Amino acid sequence: MMSCARAGQLLEGQINQDLSWTGLLELRAHLVICSICRTYRRQALEIRRLVRTAQRPDQTLKMPEIVKTRIARRIAEATELGP
Ligand SMILES: [Zn+2]
Repeated sequence: MMSCARAGQLLEGQINQDLSWTGLLELRAHLVICSICRTYRRQALEIRRLVRTAQRPDQTLKMPEIVKTRIARRIAEATELGP
């Protein structure tokens, strides 16, 4: 089974619109079984939306990094505690 770390890489690719169709299939298959990555994806897409709609460049650079770090830590914790 694909790891959440791998899924995260594919997800970044999808968000940057730089993901092959095989990668997309891999990612979809993982999202079906992994609620953590589904949550991560939803939040990542929300971040992308915020970045796109944000007017001030200094905010677009700083805020998403903080959020990404928090989400990554949460995934790491969930992975350690998971089954
Ligand atoms: Zn996952």
